[in-house]
Amino acid sequence: MSQAALYIVPTPIGNLADVSQRALDTLKQVDVIACEDTRHTGKLLSYYQIGTPTWALHDHNEQHKAEQLVTRLLEGKSIALVSDAGTPLISDPGYHLVNRCREAGIQVVALPGPCAAVTALSAAGLPTDRFVFEGFLPAKDKARHDKLESLKDEPRTMVFYESPRRLLDTVTALVEVMGEARRLVVARELTKAFETIHGLPAGDMLAWLKEDSNRCRGEIVLMVAGHKADADALPLPAQKTLALLSADLGLKKAAALTADIYGLKKNALYKHGLEAGL
Ligand code: SAM
Repeated sequence: MSQAALYIVPTPIGNLADVSQRALDTLKQVDVIACEDTRHTGKLLSYYQIGTPTWALHDHNEQHKAEQLVTRLLEGKSIALVSDAGTPLISDPGYHLVNRCREAGIQVVALPGPCAAVTALSAAGLPTDRFVFEGFLPAKDKARHDKLESLKDEPRTMVFYESPRRLLDTVTALVEVMGEARRLVVARELTKAFETIHGLPAGDMLAWLKEDSNRCRGEIVLMVAGHKADADALPLPAQKTLALLSADLGLKKAAALTADIYGLKKNALYKHGLEAGL
């Protein structure tokens, strides 16, 4: 490498072709690759015929290993940090190492690349001008419920990583806390053979997921539309009627009919329909 530095190298989230030329060059040229699981990363390295030695750096040994890696970096070695998939440090180890490198005045070079959250968001059809990444929700029911309560009025699109085992419970909690009409998008198995990206109001999403257990399988990004004061002011039955009618009649006619039925403003319904992706 031209310079001793810590290189943060994103790796594919499923499709092995999703790795940049710069990432491959970096992995070939560094002295050591620090990775979560040496066997897992070994598969990527052997696919691309890269023989660089690997060191394990995972949640349980990160603080201790970070010190050893900082020593090597200070000796002039270059190190790449990868995780099992996607961008290191994004719900993955690496924070302590990067922090220690910055404290020690070691250069940190981040390469851009795959990240499940950004990939999912870019295809979801939810507003992306502002969003919040919430990582994994707490595993315990009460803590998860409390966390969702704290996010109930969040106006930005919310992005969560979710385990297939907990998806149904989380969507059930979302219906309870944020209501049936809140729009959700489930993106699963991105870049892989069974990639699915599906958006529905929370109540319908729960029913859709329950219809077929395969819909909860694999790796999952769950996205939740932000809270909108206007939309939430529309009565839920009106929102449902609008959604039902617009499937057959188109949004414009559905908004006019729903406005007549419920004595609401046509424009408000039309705007809500557009925002809900109807
Ligand atoms: N650092 C990774 C990134 O940049 O996306 C995320 C690591 S985190 C430990 C793993 C979680 O990311 C999975 O449980 C899932 O929620 C999400 N994920 C990773 N790959 C995915 C994929 N191909 N499709 C959907 N979600 C994925």
